[in-house]
Amino acid sequence: MSDKFDVIVIGGGPAGYHAAIRAAQLGLKTACVDNYAGKDGKQALGGTCLNVGCIPSKAMLDSSKQFHNLTHNFEVHGITTKGAAIDVKTMVGRKDKIVKQFTGGVGTLFKANKVASYFGKGKLLKDNRVEIAAPDGKTETIEAANVILASGSVPIELPFAKFDGKAIVDNAGALDFDAVPKRLGVIGAGVIGLELGSVWKRLGAEVVVLEALPDFLAAADADIAKIAAREFKKQGLDIKLGAKVSKAEVKKNEVHVTYADKDGEHTIVFDKLLVAVGRRAYSEGLLGEGTGVKVDERGRVVVDEHCWTGVPGVWGVGDCVRGPMLAHKGFEEGIAVAETIAGKAGHVNVDTIPWVIYTEPEVAWVGKTEAQCKAENIPYKTGHFPFAAVGRAVAMNETAGTVKVIAHAETDRILGVHMVGPNVSELIAEAVVAMEFKGSAEDLARIVHAHPTLSEAVHEAAMAVDKRAIHRFG
Ligand code: FAD
Ligand code: NAD
Repeated sequence: MSDKFDVIVIGGGPAGYHAAIRAAQLGLKTACVDNYAGKDGKQALGGTCLNVGCIPSKAMLDSSKQFHNLTHNFEVHGITTKGAAIDVKTMVGRKDKIVKQFTGGVGTLFKANKVASYFGKGKLLKDNRVEIAAPDGKTETIEAANVILASGSVPIELPFAKFDGKAIVDNAGALDFDAVPKRLGVIGAGVIGLELGSVWKRLGAEVVVLEALPDFLAAADADIAKIAAREFKKQGLDIKLGAKVSKAEVKKNEVHVTYADKDGEHTIVFDKLLVAVGRRAYSEGLLGEGTGVKVDERGRVVVDEHCWTGVPGVWGVGDCVRGPMLAHKGFEEGIAVAETIAGKAGHVNVDTIPWVIYTEPEVAWVGKTEAQCKAENIPYKTGHFPFAAVGRAVAMNETAGTVKVIAHAETDRILGVHMVGPNVSELIAEAVVAMEFKGSAEDLARIVHAHPTLSEAVHEAAMAVDKRAIHRFG
């Protein structure tokens, strides 16, 4: 007799553990099967995000920011420091401690919510049974009325630059260097390339980022991408656009990378190469024979707008299904599916999912870009406000960047808000709330914002939509 549950979740990353905890909160007998092992070989819940993604990258970004501020930005405050040094082992050790705290925390949350946790690889069989292959080779089968697939994603590997974990690495490798590489190459100027490139640049590496596309941060609003590119260049990140990499050869602990751009073919030699050209849904070994669950040409589990696979009682959430590969998108899908299973109205508004890039300055946006409004023939108006005119930003000596609000030209409804600047990862939440409540630029303009705060840039940008920002000369 196999153990019976109301809900089995395959995958204990952000999407899966949110689904499991919410289902248990709603009184459903729930199990979660996850096969991620931490550095000690023991189960480490939390998936990519907690182990080698969101949390460790932010820990390293924070450590490197402290070091960079100490060595570059303190003098203007009248603070002098001499002999500042970075001990990479301590920095990585701190990151590992934070990871352990959080992965262990998910285990504690499972216990508190009575979620049965299984360590092993789960495979969906016919009739909503799940076979679990434990790391010691033992298998067992459990079953449930509902199975939620949350198997996440893995880094895309380039055929000519295979990960070796030493010279050519993925995100996990780049979070674990034991010393600052003198020369770091990065393939891909996307979110990971910029965040992890920034970490090692701030610690003293020469960083060259090779991006295939001719435009920088093509997904962001062009005005914001332009300012971000200028600021990253000032920091010394060498971003080469339109660079088509064709070869990466490891010779005597160095990586020789060949790429072509408009000026012809070039070879650059690096000590380490980070390949960050996107991630792909991971569904290998997830589905047994005859389950009826469809997987598309990109390996994604096919689901509808309710995250339903079309097979009774089988759902898919997070990076393994369509949509942006973001932890918070997975959180909300996991919660929504658990609520739907429990007979409630689960829902995720895909139009108000915020994006944040945790560089310096940070980049954040929600909703449509100006280019998207143009392409969709939506009449729009914009308002901009620079941080250089915000008292708090000047006091902080962090004046680079701007806030841009895009509103419908006729209804004034907010269509998108785009930011580059200090703490915009936090400021974007106001824009998300305004859009979720179908707010107008006028609504944002009439809300009282505390003075002096960075949020005044959002307030003034909203007023600028109607050409009435107060602290602007032109
Ligand atoms: P995952 O986190 O990938 O978890 C899936 C889990 O399922 C894993 O533990 C995996 O081992 C397990 N699994 C897979 N198949 C099976 C199986 N058959 N049986 C059992 N277990 C299985 N997003 C943000 O929103 N903000 C950020 O700041 C951010 N930073 C990032 C930084 C980096 C370096 C990276 C790589 C990613 C970052 N992301 C960030 C993206 C974020 O990590 C992912 O969107 C998120 O982890 C996806 O959650 P998930 O639960 O769908 O999948
Ligand atoms: P990405 O899609 O953000 O960027 C990949 C970049 O590589 C793109 O600019 C692409 O044009 C470029 N590229 C692709 N093939 C190339 C090639 N052969 N040569 C040169 N450039 C090439 O992917 P990523 O940075 O690997 O991150 C993966 C995903 O993880 C992100 O899309 C995001 O969903 C998630 N993530 C989110 C955060 C965050 O929210 N702050 C942080 C890290 C990762």
